[in-house]
Amino acid sequence: MIETGRYKGIPLEERLCQICDDKCIEDEQHFIGSCKSLSHIRASYKERFMEEGVDIEKLDVEAIKIMLDADRTKLTCDLLQDLFEERKILMYDITENETDEPTQEMHVGDPITSTE
Ligand SMILES: [Zn+2]
Repeated sequence: MIETGRYKGIPLEERLCQICDDKCIEDEQHFIGSCKSLSHIRASYKERFMEEGVDIEKLDVEAIKIMLDADRTKLTCDLLQDLFEERKILMYDITENETDEPTQEMHVGDPITSTE
């Protein structure tokens, strides 16, 4: 998360989201509101937040205030917990793949091949 990066002194542009390929800074807004790897979690909460007048995909200061309102802390905590759980699983998958499959090394003179 962006806060962790700040403490570790990692430059902002390197604090990119590790679980999607948007190359976005992983800030609170990206994590809660727009990371596509977490969209299924968000989707299961979207309607309940809409009923409270919050569009979690368009987080602004007002929306965050409503989310942190005493009446909604349970719902907000549940959402954050699910998001963090899913992120943990995704991060684990990423690091697992890195250690299991040796990544192909590039050498000078190798033909440039596209995987797309
Ligand atoms: Zn992301």
